[in-house]
Amino acid sequence: MIKKILIANRGEIACRIILTAKTMGIKTVAVTSFADRYATFAMIADQVIQIGPAPAAESYLDIDKILAAAIETGADAIHPGYGFLAENAAFAEACQKQGIIFIGPGAKAIRDMGLKDRAKTLMEKAGVPVVPGYHGANQDPKFLAAAAKKIGYPLMIKAVAGGGGKGMRLVKKAGEFAEALKGARREAANSFGNDRVLLEKYLETPRHIEVQVFGDAAGNVVHLFERDCSIQRRHQKIIEEAPAPGMTDVLRERLTGAAVRAAKAIHYENAGTIEFIVDAAGGLTDQTRFYFMEMNTRLQVEHPVTEMVTGLDLVEWQILAAEGKPLPLKQKEIKLDGHAIEARLYAEDPDHDFLPQSGTICWQSFPDEDDAFRLENGYGLGDQVTVHYDPMMAKLITWGETRKSAIVRLKQVLEASEVAGIKTNLAFLAAVCGHREFLGGNITTHFIEDHDGDFATAPPYPPEVMVVIAALTYLDDRREERQSAYDAPDPWSPFSGEGWRMNHDYCENLSFVYLDQVYHLRAEPLRGTGVATFYLDGDYLATGHRQYGHENTFELQFADRRESIAISAISHLDRIFLIRGGRTDEVRHLLPEEEMAGEATAPGTISSPMPGRILEVLAKNGQNVTKDTALIVMEAMKMEYTLRAPRDGQVEGLEAKAGAQVSEGQILLEIV
Ligand code: ADP
Repeated sequence: MIKKILIANRGEIACRIILTAKTMGIKTVAVTSFADRYATFAMIADQVIQIGPAPAAESYLDIDKILAAAIETGADAIHPGYGFLAENAAFAEACQKQGIIFIGPGAKAIRDMGLKDRAKTLMEKAGVPVVPGYHGANQDPKFLAAAAKKIGYPLMIKAVAGGGGKGMRLVKKAGEFAEALKGARREAANSFGNDRVLLEKYLETPRHIEVQVFGDAAGNVVHLFERDCSIQRRHQKIIEEAPAPGMTDVLRERLTGAAVRAAKAIHYENAGTIEFIVDAAGGLTDQTRFYFMEMNTRLQVEHPVTEMVTGLDLVEWQILAAEGKPLPLKQKEIKLDGHAIEARLYAEDPDHDFLPQSGTICWQSFPDEDDAFRLENGYGLGDQVTVHYDPMMAKLITWGETRKSAIVRLKQVLEASEVAGIKTNLAFLAAVCGHREFLGGNITTHFIEDHDGDFATAPPYPPEVMVVIAALTYLDDRREERQSAYDAPDPWSPFSGEGWRMNHDYCENLSFVYLDQVYHLRAEPLRGTGVATFYLDGDYLATGHRQYGHENTFELQFADRRESIAISAISHLDRIFLIRGGRTDEVRHLLPEEEMAGEATAPGTISSPMPGRILEVLAKNGQNVTKDTALIVMEAMKMEYTLRAPRDGQVEGLEAKAGAQVSEGQILLEIV
């Protein structure tokens, strides 16, 4: 019997594991990096050990430190979560050596499935179909180019040690192969310390359908049905659901059968997922072809959708399996009920190629959970999303009797959720949920690219209305300050507070920046009330107030109409966040001295969007470039990102060298 589990992970999955352990009466130990010492998962664990600095290599990936923490706290088992050490065979072995139970499969199974080429070879032997391609040992670029020609284009280059979409390249024609191979290798070497690749035929209308399997020590293997994870960006999942839309009984039988066969072939124990790529040209039919892609020998991020449709707790199953107990249910006792769907909330910018974002969560609010809505959140108010870890913040999972009702509910909860201080994909996810083709189940893994442009959201109101709301919020925050000026013995005295104007009531000149535009407002608050009148560049704009007792309602009288506006307004220092429908707009109050300093960066300036490392410098000083020419390849938040020319011109001031660390906002070059 396991009595105490150390969780070798962080964020939402650490919280998730701790909650199940609690219900089973098992004590928990959190290990944290210094950056995470106040994180939610550290707060809810029974014990916390800080193991090292923020970089994962010195904390969550440091096997010795984690084992030392387990020994110190007397933990008899370690749950690795997903990512970090979850699929590290050496870690599983090291746990075993210390007599600590690793909650997951044996080291051999991890190793067998750890490399994509080896896994494919094993699966071929077990009679599981694999994607046609080359997964041999020869890594000579000339040989690979010849192999690519044989396979035919388009094709995929994949790092054999790959995961999370890294070290992967889609190559559309022979001319692009050499460059793509170089990129895939570099990314693979960087991320996995292994630059070997395999080649695969690219399926044109692929769906990603995976099967959850579970094995016990006695060699029993069951499946818990399939999940469809076709909605992806950058080859990474953002929406997952179970069951797969349009799945037929016959195809399900074949897919789950192949998955169970695959797991049995490697004597698999504990939770695992067999990922298939399905050729869904004409939707799913009994005859639809599917191929083994890889096996994930751990709990998946998207396991909650399976839990919602089966009513089971997969972490509980994992703990029982690790204790050597038989699987709680037989195959025919596992039932599929209704439909579940998960959206992954990421700190990223959907408007800029989903670039990961870092920063402080100044505000967040989610609807209350119930039987049909589950929130898995790893972050609390005031927490930092740092560049050191994956930018996934939370998962929202809903259930419905039908696919449609599950999606409708998901859209509702996404639109009712609020996050400010950091850009997220909330509104983007809500837009996907509202897309006709998505609702119709017409999905492939390039759904997001195919419908690019359909998911953009617009601000809920015209800019000047947004600015007035921000201004009212700003004034509302300072009511007390103003009141003390009014309450002064002589309110008309120039010495009794700010805003004094000769022969005038109190008024303030306020400047705000919204969507890169500066707005100059004159505000005349009506003494003793929350009402103020605003003039924009001297012209009357509106009179209004923020409703008492209804913080998120603003009443505004414009020259030609009256409007009652419902929007969440949150201030944080000089930033005012206006949140509605999952979308957060930021209006910044500009201090007079800032305004004097003028605009900081010229439009042709290229600066680093976040802290990172320069991988390759493609441009030269003096070079003439056209808009969108690739200039610098950098790595930030473990992802490659290419900085491109914002306009035609000549490169100047380029000093960055490959290998250099750069900080956020650091100016790298100019296009003049
Ligand atoms: P990783 O292990 O890095 O996550 P996978 O091999 O699981 O990479 O592939 C990730 C995604 O890339 C898949 O879900 C699918 O969308 C796409 N993909 C992978 N292989 C192919 C292929 N042969 N043809 C078409 N799409 C593919």
